[in-house]
Amino acid sequence: MWYCMTCEISTLPALYAVLMTGLIGFLVVLYIWLSMRKGTRFVRHYPPPDINLLDKPYESADPNELLSFCNKGQCNGAWKPPRTHHCSTCNVCRLDFDHHCPWLGNCVSLGSMKEFLYLLFFVPLVFLLGISPAASILYSQARLAYGVSMADPWINDVWWSWYASWIVFCGPLGRPVIGTLLGYRVLKDSRVPSSGYGQMLEQPHMRVSIVALVALIMSIFAMGLGVSTLRNLLRGRTTLETLKARAYRNKFVVIPAVNAADSETGSIADMRKVITVPPQENLYILDWTKLWGKPLFTCSAYDSSSEYLWPTVNPNIIHQARNKDK
Ligand SMILES: [Zn+2]
Ligand SMILES: [Zn+2]
Repeated sequence: MWYCMTCEISTLPALYAVLMTGLIGFLVVLYIWLSMRKGTRFVRHYPPPDINLLDKPYESADPNELLSFCNKGQCNGAWKPPRTHHCSTCNVCRLDFDHHCPWLGNCVSLGSMKEFLYLLFFVPLVFLLGISPAASILYSQARLAYGVSMADPWINDVWWSWYASWIVFCGPLGRPVIGTLLGYRVLKDSRVPSSGYGQMLEQPHMRVSIVALVALIMSIFAMGLGVSTLRNLLRGRTTLETLKARAYRNKFVVIPAVNAADSETGSIADMRKVITVPPQENLYILDWTKLWGKPLFTCSAYDSSSEYLWPTVNPNIIHQARNKDK
């Protein structure tokens, strides 16, 4: 019985330590993987297709220019396939571009979206698991620091009764934060000297509370970004496409010939037409198997294919365009 109890007591912290080490390691690998692959040697360039033989509908930047090319940065006039965007920070064209992430120093595309969403949703999870054993201690220390701060004449003088304390640090929300941090400063003087190592939680430390606060803010930020990115994807759009939809500019789609093979008159090029699509309409179908079906830390079928894989155009658009002809 005694043996089992000691087993339980020592096994749980060990399992917790292994779990936390594994999760933090996973976050580090996700971060490194997402930050890498920014150079041109990781960005595929495909030869432009022959538009006369093309049978896939696709977006065109300009109704008069049937294919788009990029002369910016290191692209040197390369063909810009559909859903490609030139990132001015990375100086390359990205296939399936979503957005450039300054925290990663790299673009996020649909090919790296799975890892990006894992990172965004694992940050708050790791924070919650990491903070949970210390949360009640940190909370009671913060309450103590807040109470001490409210009662301290010097802090009342320099902070609580200062009218600008309502404005200077994030307005009314930041007022109690600074007040509490000043309370830690007062508590520092009454701290009992300890051996130091491993004693950070026993007595109130401003450093520990700041680290916990920054981690909380970053977790909320990551969660918010994760939810908004996922919401766009569930609507079938990348972040860039969501922004373009808000820009209220019409899009142009090149529709190849209908039943061109059966036609006896004219070439495919003669029967091709460019249609205008309202900004809110999704141009392409989001391929979830391509986005979610690939194993983690691998290139998507899109990135690794030697031949360009055309995105599937929203069938509603083609349907509407063909119905207009009838
Ligand atoms: Zn480019
Ligand atoms: Zn970029």
